[in-house]
Amino acid sequence: MNSPNERDYPGYCILCSKRYESFSNMDKCEQCGTTEQPCKDKYQESIEVNHRELRLLLTAAEAWHLTNEEGADIVYAIAARIRRQLKYPMIPLTAHDEFQELKDKGIGFISNHPAADMP
Ligand SMILES: [Zn+2]
Repeated sequence: MNSPNERDYPGYCILCSKRYESFSNMDKCEQCGTTEQPCKDKYQESIEVNHRELRLLLTAAEAWHLTNEEGADIVYAIAARIRRQLKYPMIPLTAHDEFQELKDKGIGFISNHPAADMP
């Protein structure tokens, strides 16, 4: 587990983005209840990346979470934060985004991908 000093940094909840000045004495996010490790500001990075690279990483993470976890909420939360920083935020970053785009356009499809049936 983290040492007391390791948790005494500002940052945000990885799932709901709630800001915290410190994560000391916290077992879970007081807004969404997740016990996932928070994102500390001291580890925030600015990088140059291409949409195609983001899509590759996020769709791989999405597929893994949908297959091995109870859902991909954490991946969709990360994708939403990334999307807010993009010049072209409407480009799909996850398979769910791509299926939603088809649904929004009224285009029917058949897929066994677990993200295809999500609302
Ligand atoms: Zn939260």
